[in-house]
Amino acid sequence: MFLGHIAVGLAGKRAAPSVSLATWLTSVQLVDMLWPIFLLLGLEHVRIAPGITKFTPLDFYDYPITHSLVGSAAWAAIFGGGCLLVYRSARIAALLAAGVVSHWVLDVISHRPDMPVLPRGPYLGLGLWNSVPATLVVELAMFATGLGLYMRGGGAAGRRISFWLLIAFLLVVYFAAAFGPPPPDTRTLAWSALTAWVLVPWAWRADRITDH
Ligand SMILES: [Zn+2]
Repeated sequence: MFLGHIAVGLAGKRAAPSVSLATWLTSVQLVDMLWPIFLLLGLEHVRIAPGITKFTPLDFYDYPITHSLVGSAAWAAIFGGGCLLVYRSARIAALLAAGVVSHWVLDVISHRPDMPVLPRGPYLGLGLWNSVPATLVVELAMFATGLGLYMRGGGAAGRRISFWLLIAFLLVVYFAAAFGPPPPDTRTLAWSALTAWVLVPWAWRADRITDH
């Protein structure tokens, strides 16, 4: 899932408006932001296997550190702990930690049974990606809902051009990944997955309340 995660981040802004959208997007995308780093370090592995699901050509056969439930819980604890120091609010820290774990839950919905609970299994996955139309309907509906919640809670930020450029960029990336050719090799895939980091300063800029 990709837009589904972003949707949770947009909705999170409504639940905790004092937290920047940049922090929210980091929370819900944290394990996908770490994943390409672990790939490049050779600690996690992925195969390009066109046809493995209808929606993505990627065979996620080894990602115990970023995408197991226990791994996600550990990243959530680290991220939530950091947020507790910054925001000094247990409620906000708990919400942002829950955002990290929400990634695992949503990935279980879309992936094949390749999502580890413990680092070496058992593996879960409901396989939404086996249907392109179902994937698009679910993720675009989630994205629209998240955007609606953000607009109702976010005030002026929702009317800024950099915000709408970010939304357009996310949609372009999503459809390019869905309908474009598979990546040529896993190294190229890992480097392109690092673009998730670009969203953080972009969202911070787009979501700022004041312009100075
Ligand atoms: Zn993921």
